[in-house]
Amino acid sequence: MAKRPRQQARTGAPKGPKGVAIYHDMKVYENFERCAQRIFECVRMAQQQSPGAPRTLFLDIQGHRNSVGGYDDALELMKEFGMGYLLQFLTELSTPLIRVRNNGRQRDDLPEELRIVYPDDGSEYGYDATRLGLRPRENFPADRRSKPTLKAITAYLGMDEPACLVCWRTPVERAHVVPEKLGGSLDVRNFALLCHAHHAEAPDVADAESFWAWVDYAELRDSPDKWRDAPEQLQEWLRERGVRVDPPQREEQSFFSAVKRELKSLYGWSDAEFGSVAWEDLMEEFHAVLDSATGRHFAVDKKVSTYAWAYDVARRRVAGEEGPGRGVAARLPTP
Ligand SMILES: [Zn+2]
Repeated sequence: MAKRPRQQARTGAPKGPKGVAIYHDMKVYENFERCAQRIFECVRMAQQQSPGAPRTLFLDIQGHRNSVGGYDDALELMKEFGMGYLLQFLTELSTPLIRVRNNGRQRDDLPEELRIVYPDDGSEYGYDATRLGLRPRENFPADRRSKPTLKAITAYLGMDEPACLVCWRTPVERAHVVPEKLGGSLDVRNFALLCHAHHAEAPDVADAESFWAWVDYAELRDSPDKWRDAPEQLQEWLRERGVRVDPPQREEQSFFSAVKRELKSLYGWSDAEFGSVAWEDLMEEFHAVLDSATGRHFAVDKKVSTYAWAYDVARRRVAGEEGPGRGVAARLPTP
């Protein structure tokens, strides 16, 4: 059960009793921002709990490949963020590409907060709400005519066995990241592995990063389920370490309150925002977004996740906001 921990700062002993080893697996559904924030938090925690102890960061990457087999934003994570910034606060950094030591120079003054700023160079990141166009993760999709096999997707994700990316259950289905009807490709990078229930719940939208952000959110939201069948002793051990083991009581709720909850927890809407939105303008825009940038799946008429995305994009359009949506880039769901 504990085979694939999301992240942990573990006080171990890679080099001497006082060393701290930090492991992070950049999941296929994490983007640069969310991953960098999480790693930063782990290093900050390690610095706080064991100041001065030599820190080693082990970083692994799931998926995140470009069309020629190199890394996508995972490369920036390893190079710019890992080597360029974080290494000064570490003793050693180990990634699939590089293993570097910072000989005896580890700094112990990591700031309280990591601020990620977007370059003002017109580089496109996140979904452009002003255009409602397709935003896939793969820019040069392979010219395939059939879905990649389960085996190919499993291999791409670096998993031993196919399992739902949200709840790890089986059997799994091959889920399009961007639906074919919206222009999504048959490239292996346009597929996720989800169980039937999570597949039916995932958004059918024109933006790949929003799909992955939803998987990330659902994984955090539903992860307590993973420990349900674990031995009581292990559950106790996890509880003591602050892992949420018991599933939250999710009361029955109406469709719109479910959408509202997702707007708050995934897209970062505040109560004040719900009050200040001009609903008439918003509804018009919302339907325009729904018609042109979302799809339907499983003959489900309305999906909470698709509606929440469309409301968020519509709100940004009405407000004339540019740049990536908060749900995709800046907002971090808290475990
Ligand atoms: Zn699942």
